[in-house]
Amino acid sequence: MIACNCEVCSSTNKKDNRLRASILVQSTTTTIVVDTTPDFRYQMLREKIKKIDAVLFTHPHKDHIAGLDDIRAFNYFQQSSINIYANILTQEALKREFTYVFAEKKYPGIPQINLCTIDMDPFIIGDINIIPILVWHLHMPVLAFRFGNFTYVTDANKIEEEERKKITGSKIMALNALRKEKHISHFNLPQAIEMVQQLKVPEAYFIHLSHQMGKHMDVEKSLPAGIHLAYDGLKIMC
Ligand SMILES: [Zn+2]
Ligand SMILES: [Zn+2]
Repeated sequence: MIACNCEVCSSTNKKDNRLRASILVQSTTTTIVVDTTPDFRYQMLREKIKKIDAVLFTHPHKDHIAGLDDIRAFNYFQQSSINIYANILTQEALKREFTYVFAEKKYPGIPQINLCTIDMDPFIIGDINIIPILVWHLHMPVLAFRFGNFTYVTDANKIEEEERKKITGSKIMALNALRKEKHISHFNLPQAIEMVQQLKVPEAYFIHLSHQMGKHMDVEKSLPAGIHLAYDGLKIMC
């Protein structure tokens, strides 16, 4: 966190150095980015990503969309516009926050995107099958996504019974756990552990961690078997 001197923010362990929550999902033919955070540009540079086929959005909060402008580099090298998969709620925010991208008369060099509307129906990008799952971020509906055996759930503090069935059977999941104390719109650590255990997913990684969660090594030691804290740059094969 900017201007913070706590033990996490001043830690020399790279796993305590956390950028905003986002993932890259990759098959042999297809690369998808889920959310373009304010750190999107640096994340793409750090991981040396040369091509993306699509961006998938979970919800319209700034920390999940702010980096969209930097897809310009992919437009330039791929000589094409990029497909953006978002529900109507997120599209409204994109149109509000990136008015120039949607302007009638566009100036040169701005992002070139194709908006693809998604709702709760499964869809396919390249060779990757995707099942949207509705989760609640206080009063805001957020899309979680299941990709085969892996489910990604960011920014939520409630998952209704019917939607939980879509997660059941996943071998691995990522789930938001903001900190140890309660929060109004995110699961905290005990709630996230309970959710993984209720869903019976054997391997889970907690994401969207605040500096208030504490140091990676300390928290990691306290977690039940099969549950871990994620860290920036973590790669999972499934
Ligand atoms: Zn959010
Ligand atoms: Zn967020």
